[in-house]
Amino acid sequence: MYFEKFSDDRKGIFVTKPTLPPLKEYISYLERIWDKDILTNMGPLHEEFREKLSDFFGVDICLPSSNGHMALELTIQAMELKGEIITTPYTFASTTHAIVRNGCTPVFCDVKESDCTIDSNKIEELITDQTVAILPVHVYGMPCNVDEIDRIANKYGLKVIYDAAHAFGVKIGGKSIASFGDASMFSFHATKVFNTIEGGCVTVKDPQNAVRLYQLCNFGIMGEDVVSAVGANAKMNEFQAAMGLCNLEHFEENRRKRKSIYELYKKELNEFDGIRMLDAYRDDIERNYSYCAVFFDSEVLGVTRNEIYDYLVSNNIYVRKYFYPITSDFDCYKNAGYRGETPISRKLSNQVLTLPIYPELEEEKIFDICEYLKAFIRR
Ligand SMILES: *Cc1c(COP(=O)(O)O)cnc(C)c1O
Repeated sequence: MYFEKFSDDRKGIFVTKPTLPPLKEYISYLERIWDKDILTNMGPLHEEFREKLSDFFGVDICLPSSNGHMALELTIQAMELKGEIITTPYTFASTTHAIVRNGCTPVFCDVKESDCTIDSNKIEELITDQTVAILPVHVYGMPCNVDEIDRIANKYGLKVIYDAAHAFGVKIGGKSIASFGDASMFSFHATKVFNTIEGGCVTVKDPQNAVRLYQLCNFGIMGEDVVSAVGANAKMNEFQAAMGLCNLEHFEENRRKRKSIYELYKKELNEFDGIRMLDAYRDDIERNYSYCAVFFDSEVLGVTRNEIYDYLVSNNIYVRKYFYPITSDFDCYKNAGYRGETPISRKLSNQVLTLPIYPELEEEKIFDICEYLKAFIRR
């Protein structure tokens, strides 16, 4: 049996560090929980968090959930989708799993090399009479080409559900990323740019979908004596909501810190041919700097991504191959016969490393990381 052993005595620089609010702030919310004796099931902190989130996104409907994955899985169920869903394999396991666990078939569209999001020029050729939805991913918080996806979805009568797990706080032309498509799922996992320990939410356009989704998150319960759908349990508890309320206050400040870290990496690494960081597809995009993805072209550099990875990790710099492998290459999917050729996705996944980025990462550590990288490549 395989269990990953968690060791708490590792030394080094990690790819991320969970954002924790000042303990005092969290304790003041804990006192409110102790006063009310309500721990879960849409309690007062859940409601307060739900309202603040809706304001933050500028949307009418936003439902918090126990985690991002269940929110995505249950959104597909709430929309009663059956058939093929066009998606990308350059993502976390959750995206493809949510489709397959609903009995739907993923169809893999390739991504753009420039920003790792779905290549909207390649969507239409994958549409058949079985296609019911498009499920694109705002990879690393880089927004998909939402206008073009919208146009295609309208033309063919398809639903659009965004995996916005990475995209909290991102805006396009001043508009929240949450306002595009029929629904967007955000993850508030500890490793994400904004966290509620575990947690997530969905923003939904259609109120009827929202009601179904709300019920599915609570076992399909409609009333005291009525259970009308095969639901699950995806409720956000009060401790998670409290963490969200605290962290929300610090989000903009953390975004600024992340931005300066990202810019510093860019300045340090830009001089190299064969090293590339991502550019957004238009210039009115407000990013969240949730990840620092760097792509290494082994033909230009003379070293492979894996050699760079091994070298950095052996020097206690814990970068990640995120995303490698692409989901269509997973053991559970590689022989499933799903449609779609994705050479760009595979190429990117063989080139990528995500470098450490979190608000408290010190400048001198960034210089260290870049020095190790440059020294290894130059030698
Ligand atoms: C983290 C993540 C998810 C799942 O979110 P959880 O909150 O961990 O369940 C889904 N999709 C992507 C792209 C993610 O990175």
